[in-house]
Amino acid sequence: MSARILDGNALSADVRAGLAESVKEIKARGVTPCLAVILVGDNPASAVYVRNKVIGCEKAGMRSLRFDFPADADPKVVLDKIAELNADDGVHGILVQLPLPPQFDEKEVLEAISVDKDVDGFHAENVGRLSQGQRAFFPCTPHGVMKLLEAGKVEVSGADAVVIGRSNIVGKPMAMLLTQAGATVTVCHSKTRDLASHTRRADILIVAIGRPMFITGDMIKPGAAVIDVGMNRVPAGLPNEGKLCGDVDFDSAREVAGAITPVPGGVGPMTITMLLANTLESAERQAERQGV
Ligand code: NAP
Repeated sequence: MSARILDGNALSADVRAGLAESVKEIKARGVTPCLAVILVGDNPASAVYVRNKVIGCEKAGMRSLRFDFPADADPKVVLDKIAELNADDGVHGILVQLPLPPQFDEKEVLEAISVDKDVDGFHAENVGRLSQGQRAFFPCTPHGVMKLLEAGKVEVSGADAVVIGRSNIVGKPMAMLLTQAGATVTVCHSKTRDLASHTRRADILIVAIGRPMFITGDMIKPGAAVIDVGMNRVPAGLPNEGKLCGDVDFDSAREVAGAITPVPGGVGPMTITMLLANTLESAERQAERQGV
């Protein structure tokens, strides 16, 4: 058997086309959705992510603002910029690219962003709302995974879902979204005993650990939907050394799984797409408040 490919590029293009239409409509009502992105330091991967977010905004017809600070920036200066953006009615989303240099308290920075502009969905209040099933900005990567499952017609309600990884950014919110959608969810992590005994009974397996090609075909239930969140480089000495790869060994997994996301071209493109969707939603909420 060769698994069906859950194509994140195609879905992302569809969703972005719909977003661009909605952006036109809201602009005609006098509101231009605007995302402000803050980058501190010179981490090359972060710079690429920020550039792609800014380009994504432009292509969707949204405004973007970018603020760069040096690696040795005083946290107060960045917190002051966040306060300024919080107070600016023309800004609908604020994103601080992680990771931050060591002098920063990441939690303090994320909590400084207004809950109403927290389009990354990392603010504790948004996380709390999500856990209670209230209206919230969902973190973009797990939200994108839910859209991929929906578009791929993967039945979530009643499914046994296993999430590997318990980070605040991916694993934990992923488990909450799956639970709300009716799955029976198990969260695994580095302390989990006999990982394969969990993965082998998963109808839906979400892998977010950051270890290249860690999950192999023999760990997967035949017919399962496998979502690979990982973004790694193929280690030295292996074929395709240095190329982008996921946490799942795609070649062996696709022989067993019923559906699978590739890396690249699976979860990755959906993350920025959901960021744009959250920014538009924030602008729509503001338009609603203003009655326009
Ligand atoms: P993270 O914060 O490093 O968390 C990794 C998680 O994996 C932790 O919960 C860790 O367990 C668990 N883990 C590590 N080794 C394990 C093992 N051998 N067995 C079982 N669990 C293990 O990473 P993250 O931010 O969630 O990101 C995970 C991956 O997704 C990375 O490759 C990252 O690049 C990628 N990512 C991709 C996107 C995208 O848009 N495609 C977005 C975000 C992240 P402990 O908690 O016990 O340490």
